[in-house]
Amino acid sequence: MKFSLTTLGVSSASPTTDRYPSAHILNICGRLLLIDCGEGCQMLMKRHGISLMKTGRIFLSHVHGDHVFGIFGLMSTLSMSGRTEPLHIYAPETFRGILDFFRGQFLERECYPIIFHPLTSGEPETVWEDNGITVTAFPLLHRVPTYGYLFREREPELNVRKEAVSALSLSVEEILALKEGRDVRREDGTVLETQSLTYRPYEPRSFAYCSDTAVFDALPGIVRGVDLLYHEATFGDDCADKAAEMFHSTARQAGETALKAGAGKLVIGHFSSRYKDPSVLLAQTREVFPQTEIGWEGKEFEVPLKKNEK
Ligand SMILES: [Zn+2]
Ligand SMILES: [Zn+2]
Repeated sequence: MKFSLTTLGVSSASPTTDRYPSAHILNICGRLLLIDCGEGCQMLMKRHGISLMKTGRIFLSHVHGDHVFGIFGLMSTLSMSGRTEPLHIYAPETFRGILDFFRGQFLERECYPIIFHPLTSGEPETVWEDNGITVTAFPLLHRVPTYGYLFREREPELNVRKEAVSALSLSVEEILALKEGRDVRREDGTVLETQSLTYRPYEPRSFAYCSDTAVFDALPGIVRGVDLLYHEATFGDDCADKAAEMFHSTARQAGETALKAGAGKLVIGHFSSRYKDPSVLLAQTREVFPQTEIGWEGKEFEVPLKKNEK
């Protein structure tokens, strides 16, 4: 029941000697989801024991080099490794021409299907769901079309309280009805209420990714109540003007968005190379939102499972 984010690359446009550009792995119960794929991403994955072959879906925020340059090497390696499983890529429509050129030029023998999911909507939209999670893409505010992603676990199935099963001699049909949230009326007129006889075994968890973006009014509402929020913090207070000009956020603004959204925890990254030690940015964010952590290569942030009382 793992739900964790591993930050791999946390540098902005220029890498530094100890920070790679944007790359992150979200592990939701064994689903390995790659979010942005900056230069060096496949080496970082190998270094930190993350399987390239088991990564089935890549979510790209936008077509700036520090978020996509790593995907080309990664796709080549997968081809040479004999992958046969499909690879799904979610990205703004602007990525299509680049992907087509790369496939025509460099993937001579494409042995696995590459399925491109272009993002064009001006509103949040569900882009993928399976029996356990849903993924929503939503527009951010940057210099080019850019999308954030919201990953949510589905509500778990209701459990029937054990003591009720024996005390009321519940039949299999009654248990199934209660698990589906339906009250049951027995022949003697008594009603078995799902509300009092069942419970949700745990609370569904959520994560949102916001990079690159300037602050905008609607964003906290879109990511309201997430357990874990990743938000770019490219600049500090000293470069607030530059952040606005480049459609980026300051560390303090990242904290303000997390606060307004009521996030459980915030992870900041996408640091400008001008900050040798990004702890100065962390201090500024924490003045607004104390539950902030700093992303660095290989750091894993777990969202623990919150079990409910039986
Ligand atoms: Zn960037
Ligand atoms: Zn950008």
